[in-house]
Amino acid sequence: MKIAEIFHSLQGEGILAGVPSVFIRTSGCNLRCVWCDTPYTSWQPEGADIPVGEILEAASLTGARNAVVTGGEPMIAPDIGPLTHGLRSLGLHITIETAGTVFAPVACDLMSISPKLANSTPHTRDGGRFAAQHERLRLQPDTLRRLMRAHDYQLKFVIAAPEDADEAADLARALEADPARVVLMPEGVEPGTLRERAVWLAEICKQRGWRFSPRLHIDLWGNCRGV
Ligand code: SF4
Repeated sequence: MKIAEIFHSLQGEGILAGVPSVFIRTSGCNLRCVWCDTPYTSWQPEGADIPVGEILEAASLTGARNAVVTGGEPMIAPDIGPLTHGLRSLGLHITIETAGTVFAPVACDLMSISPKLANSTPHTRDGGRFAAQHERLRLQPDTLRRLMRAHDYQLKFVIAAPEDADEAADLARALEADPARVVLMPEGVEPGTLRERAVWLAEICKQRGWRFSPRLHIDLWGNCRGV
């Protein structure tokens, strides 16, 4: 599998924020979000081909009881099935972080689905050459429903402006999502931006009865790799 990084940290986002976890970050993505915070897995995918057995050994050595399989888009990795079943055989709780555009048979305890809203489309990046493809792929309602039916899930929306929450609401309604499983997270990698957005986003979460997610790893360590 093409792996960008494996590291031991705290889950920074979503309903398991704060939980010590080993992160296995696959490289390669079918989308190109304009604000992607891991461009080394999407816009310029980097990494090494590592056999599943070596990945499992590295995960096991951390001693973590929780594994986060993230990306990039881990659901397009050819060995995602063997990897997740191997993690399960090690007794780890498995979170998969996905944009929800692809279904694959996996072992998973929390499917962390982050459907990409219109704010993600890269009209202004790289001459806009990925915008049409991204726009065509970013929302796959049938796949989202299938993932939500197959697994315990959270729907984690990345919010850059208050009106993004209306778009998230329309999608959550169409998917008949459990409001307790809807999570809004501010977009950004600068502490000042996150702080400013968190203030109004918290009010939106209160009004709608949704969960607010911090970006704990950014708060603690800044926007760097391996945390
Ligand atoms: S889906 Fe995730 S990894 Fe892919 S471009 Fe968007 S933010 Fe980056």
